[in-house]
Amino acid sequence: MQPAVKPNMTENHAALKGIDWRQQDWRRELQNNITTVDALKTYLPLSEKEEADLRRVTDIHPMNIPRYYLSLVDAEDPDDPIRRLCVPDAAELVVAGAMGETTADPYGDDKHDKGNGLLHKYSYTALVVTSEYCAMYCRHCFRKRMVGLSNELTVKNFQKAAAYVAEHPEITNVILSGGDPFMLPTKVLEKMLAALVDIPHVNHVRIGSRVPVSYPLRLFDDDLMAVLRDFNDRKTLFVPTHFNHAREITSEAREAVHRLRLCGITVNNQAVLLRGVNDSEEALVDLMNGLLRIGVNPYYLYQCMPVARVRHHFQVPLKKGITIVDRARRYFDGYAKRFKYIIGHDIGKLEICGQIDGKVILKQLHARGGHDEEVSRLLVRELTDTGGWLDDLPEASL
Ligand code: SF4
Repeated sequence: MQPAVKPNMTENHAALKGIDWRQQDWRRELQNNITTVDALKTYLPLSEKEEADLRRVTDIHPMNIPRYYLSLVDAEDPDDPIRRLCVPDAAELVVAGAMGETTADPYGDDKHDKGNGLLHKYSYTALVVTSEYCAMYCRHCFRKRMVGLSNELTVKNFQKAAAYVAEHPEITNVILSGGDPFMLPTKVLEKMLAALVDIPHVNHVRIGSRVPVSYPLRLFDDDLMAVLRDFNDRKTLFVPTHFNHAREITSEAREAVHRLRLCGITVNNQAVLLRGVNDSEEALVDLMNGLLRIGVNPYYLYQCMPVARVRHHFQVPLKKGITIVDRARRYFDGYAKRFKYIIGHDIGKLEICGQIDGKVILKQLHARGGHDEEVSRLLVRELTDTGGWLDDLPEASL
C-alpha cells in the first residue's frame, strides 16, 4: 500500500512546476539536484520498505534527479513512466531473473577501449567518453557500470584522444559521449571541439546528450550556443539525444532543441523501448509524432540491453516489442517511420526488420573492425515468448 501523500510533500512538488527554468543558472541549479533518499522524501511519498530499499539501491547506483525533471513526475502515481526513468527502484537490486543473464558491458565497449576514454569499435567512428557525470542518472542507463562512479574509462587528456583520431585517417566521425559532454564547462568543451575542427578526415562530430530532455536549462546558456554555432560553421555537428516519453517533450525541451537548431545543428533521437515507460503503440505514436513537432528526427529505438540491474524491470520481450513497433508504424508518416528498431549488440548494430511465421529477421548495420563481411548480412531467429536479446533466440531459417 502506498503511504498517504503528506501536504508539505505535495506542496514541495507542486512548487517545482512554478519555477521559471529559463531564469535559472544551470551551474547553480545542479546543486539543487535530488541525490539522497531523504531529499526525495520531501517531494514524493515513499513507504518504509521503499525507503529502505532505495537506500540499498543508491549505495550501488547513485541517484541524481534535477528538480526540473522531478517536476515532470506525477507524484501521486507510483507507476508513473517519468518516475520510472529517474527514481531508483528496488528491482535494481535484482541481477539475475526471468529475463535471462545480464552483463555490465552488453555493448562490448571495454574490448575496444584504446585507453584515455577512447573507444574505436567501428573503423570509421571514434567515441570519446568525456565525462562520467550526467545531469540525471537514468535508471535504465546501459553505461550504469560507470555513470556517476569514478572510473578509468573517462578521457584524461583530450589532446591525446584527438591525436589518435588525427593518426587514423579511416575515422570519418567522432562521438563525444559520456556521461554527458554538455555537463562539462563550456570552455572545456570548446577546447575539445577546437582539437577536432582541423582534422581533415573528420566529416562530422556528434555530441551525445540527454540535457534537452533532463536539463534543458543547460542549453539556455548563450556562451555554449556561440561555441556550438562557431564549430558548426566549420564542421557539421549533430546532437543525438534521448527522449523516451511524450511527457518529456515540454516547452523548455522544445526551446532547448530550437536553440540547437538555430545553430544549424541536426538533432536526432535515440529512444529505448522500456517496460512501463513506452511499451505500447500509443506511447510510441505520441513520442515519435511529438519529436517531429519540435524538429527532432526519430533515429533509433533501441531494444533495452541485458544490463545488470536494468534488464529485469525494463526489458520488453522481442516478440512483444516487434508487435508494438509494427502496430505503431501504421500511424506514422514517412518522417516518423524513419527510425530503426535496433539491437546494439557486442557484434555490432542489428536492425530488427520484422517478423514472419514466428521468426524475426534482423539485418546487421555495423560490424566490429575486422568483420566487414558481416555488414548487411541477414540473420533469422525463432521468436520465443520471453527472449529479449539476440542470444536468447534459437537460430532459424526461413
Ligand atoms: S544521460 Fe545517458 S549516459 Fe547519462 S545516465 Fe542517462 S542514459 Fe546514461
